[in-house]
Order: sequence, then C-alpha cells, then structure tokens
Amino acid sequence: MAAQIINGFELAKEKRAQLAKEVEELKETGVEPTLAVILVGDHPASQSYVKAKQKACEEIGIRSILLTFPDDICESFLLEQIARLNEDRSVHGILVQLPLPKQIDELHVIEAIAPEKDVDGFHPLNIGRMMTGQRTFLPCTPYGILYMVQSLQVDIAGKHVVVVGRSNIVGKPVGQLFLREHATVTYCHSRTNDLAAITSQADILIVAVGKPKLITSQHVKEGAIVIDVGVNRLENGKLCGDVDFDDVKEVASYITPVPKGVGPMTITMLLNNTIQAAREQHE
Ligand code: NDP
Repeated sequence: MAAQIINGFELAKEKRAQLAKEVEELKETGVEPTLAVILVGDHPASQSYVKAKQKACEEIGIRSILLTFPDDICESFLLEQIARLNEDRSVHGILVQLPLPKQIDELHVIEAIAPEKDVDGFHPLNIGRMMTGQRTFLPCTPYGILYMVQSLQVDIAGKHVVVVGRSNIVGKPVGQLFLREHATVTYCHSRTNDLAAITSQADILIVAVGKPKLITSQHVKEGAIVIDVGVNRLENGKLCGDVDFDDVKEVASYITPVPKGVGPMTITMLLNNTIQAAREQHE
C-alpha cells in the first residue's frame, strides 16, 4: 500500500492558528512579539526565505523588522547592529539569514546574538541546553520535524532513527531531539560506507543532504516513516527533495512531500520561538 503523505502545510496551518491566539493574548498584556531579521546581500534564495518568514509573522500578528545590508559590509559593523538589537527591549527575537558573505564568520555572528533572543536556536549556549535537556529555543527545522512525527501518534521511544546529514542546523540537532525522545539514533554522512545498509534499518529515516533523489526504495525499510528535509532546485525550475518520492512512497508508511513538507513547519517553529522569547522576556 502506498504511504500516507504527511501534509506539512496543513499541520503548519493548524499550529499557526493556535500561535495567533497566543499572540493576541500577549498583546492584551501589552506585549507585541517582535522579530528582527537581518539580511546581508541579495542572494535570491535568502531573499525569498526572508520574505516567507516576514509574511508568516504578519499573518499571525507578530511584528517583524527587516534590516538589509549590502554584501560588502564588514563583520564588526554587523556585530554592532546585533549588539544594538540585543539592547532593544522592543525586539524579542533576532534572526540572521544564512549564509553570510565570506568576509563574515558565521559563528561570530551567531555567538553575538543574546541567547534569550536566539529564536533560531543556533547559539552554542542554546545548543548545549538542548543537548542537556534544559528549556531553550529548539532549532526550527529539527523542532518542526519532531512535531510532524509526533503528530502521527507513533511511539518514538525505542525506534531506530537514522539521520542522513550532520550539519549543525539540521542533521546533528534533529538526531539529538529524537534521542531525547528515547529513540536509538544513527548518523550517516558523506563518508558513511554502504548508506543503504544503514538507512534500510531505520524505523524513522530523516534525510538532510541537499542531493536530489539520493534516497530510493532500495534505502528504505517497508513501513518506515520518511522525512525529506532536502530542498533542491532542478534544471526545469521545479523543487525536489533528497528522496525519490514516487519510488519511496511505495514502501514507506508515511512520507513528507517537497514542497509542502518540512519547509512550512520550519517557519512555524520560528514563530513559536519568537512568541516564547517575547513571553519569557516579559515574565
Ligand atoms: P549541509 O550541506 O550543511 O549538510 C549536508 C550533509 O549531507 C553533510 O553532513 C554531508 O556530509 C551529507 N552528505 C553529503 N553527501 C552525502 C551523501 N552522498 N551521502 C550521505 N550524506 C551526504 O546541508 P544542510 O543540513 O544545511 O541542508 C540539507 C538540505 O536540507 C539542503 O537541501 C537544504 O536546502 C535543506 N534545508 C531545508 C530546510 C527546510 O526548512 N525545509 C531547512 C534547512 C535546510 P559531510 O558532513 O560528511 O560533508
């Protein structure tokens, strides 16, 4: 039987309706949740991600401020802007759209954001808190993936979760979140020997690589849940994931599509974290 499709778009819509109510409640107490977004340069993909994030904020009543800078700014200038936003009590969340131009060290920038305003959840302090199970901002894409899997009402404890990809923003943290839920977690990456031998043991397979159709039915166990994080633009202009959707849907039990899968959940968790930041800063 073909897999059921996990509709990230619909799940995101439901969650955003709930978040809109939370924003309303905060506004009634005089707090207007506010996100500051920094965009450096004119990278088209970054521009469209920022636009989507701002639109999502607006739809649920979060105020968003956009600061754009040319791609030849120096690191110290950007760090000054972040310091200013850190001090600004009307700003609750700060997001710097990545990637940044070569002359700017991303780690310096991430570390400059006040941890209590780090709604992307990338600051090393927040990553440490996540790893040790403390309350913090969870990184948006991993958090969205966990939310999607939890929405299926499956018991994650004891399941074998295989994560393909080990980036700091997706692969590594998503594995940690499932470990926190008592899954047994295996990481694969570009130097993994015999990828299919490992991925085909997964009850839950999460793929965050950036290679179109890397994962086929040969990589997937019958009945597995498959989460495709990849976003790849094909020559014909269409978007496609890292998973060969038509092939894998014949063996998986659940599968996320691209688009309308993980992407909308990522933005939803950014909204969630911004509201959390506003609430915590006014408590
Ligand atoms: P990175 O490029 O930072 O990481 C890719 C990872 O894939 C690396 O760990 C790399 O291994 C691994 N890898 C590369 N080739 C292979 C291979 N042949 N077999 C197994 N592993 C391999 O990417 P990101 O994590 O930032 O993003 C991954 C994808 O997810 C991209 O398509 C990106 O656009 C998308 N994305 C989607 C989001 C969404 O909201 N939907 C959010 C963020 C990302 P190694 O470490 O050894 O180099």
